[in-house]
Amino acid sequence: MTTLPRPVKADPSALSARLEEVRSRISNAAKRSGREGSEIRLIGVVKTVGADAVREAVALGLHDLGENRVQEAEQKIAAVGRASEGRPIRWHLIGHLQRNKAARAVQLFDSVHSVDRLQLAEALSRHAAAKGQTLPILIEVNVSREATKFGVPPDALEPLAGKIAELESLSLEGLMTVGAPAAFGADARAGFAELRELRDRAARSLGLTLPQLSMGMSGDFEVAIEEGSTMVRVGSAIFGARPAAPRGGG
Ligand SMILES: *Cc1c(COP(=O)(O)O)cnc(C)c1O
Repeated sequence: MTTLPRPVKADPSALSARLEEVRSRISNAAKRSGREGSEIRLIGVVKTVGADAVREAVALGLHDLGENRVQEAEQKIAAVGRASEGRPIRWHLIGHLQRNKAARAVQLFDSVHSVDRLQLAEALSRHAAAKGQTLPILIEVNVSREATKFGVPPDALEPLAGKIAELESLSLEGLMTVGAPAAFGADARAGFAELRELRDRAARSLGLTLPQLSMGMSGDFEVAIEEGSTMVRVGSAIFGARPAAPRGGG
């Protein structure tokens, strides 16, 4: 039997195969944590991915999509849309958000995972109110404590969560983290466990239900699920490697 290396880009079914594999890995990791795969929301991260590939993924049933820049999302949502065969496509903002883009973000996104300061939360709440809706949000926590990373430091989480929970037009649903920098499963696990513990403590002391934990990316989503993740944000494992340039938010 000959085994030839398959060029990923030339194979039209590559995306389908990769998506199927990610789903089965999610399902297996969920079972290891006593849950079903259907309890974990797979968010396909489409930053730098062309509209055709995004549409193909949507046709394969991927209805939650993540973008980390408002401007890029603007074009992509226009090209891909907000529904497919009668089912809504949910757009998640997962990257750093500047306050002056809060209005645009509320127009574009169905949920924001990256809220990390009160002024931003207040701006989002104001714009959601003006639109007559409630915006689901998560608070981003910097569990790895890197100075370069966004997110509220763990010590500052409870006071911030308490204030955000009082805002009229936001629905605070849980916490998000990017986790440890490298794809070392072991390091990532400690950060994910910490996020879960922070959530448990904040929920108890503030009397809130914070059911969602957005944690886990291509290199570590199985570990994240084992530690209680309810939403994984997976880009390259579905869509293939991105160009190497570092991507911030916007
Ligand atoms: C890019 C990105 C992801 C997805 O990263 P992959 O390693 O490609 O899965 C997830 N979350 C955030 C915040 C990102 O910026």
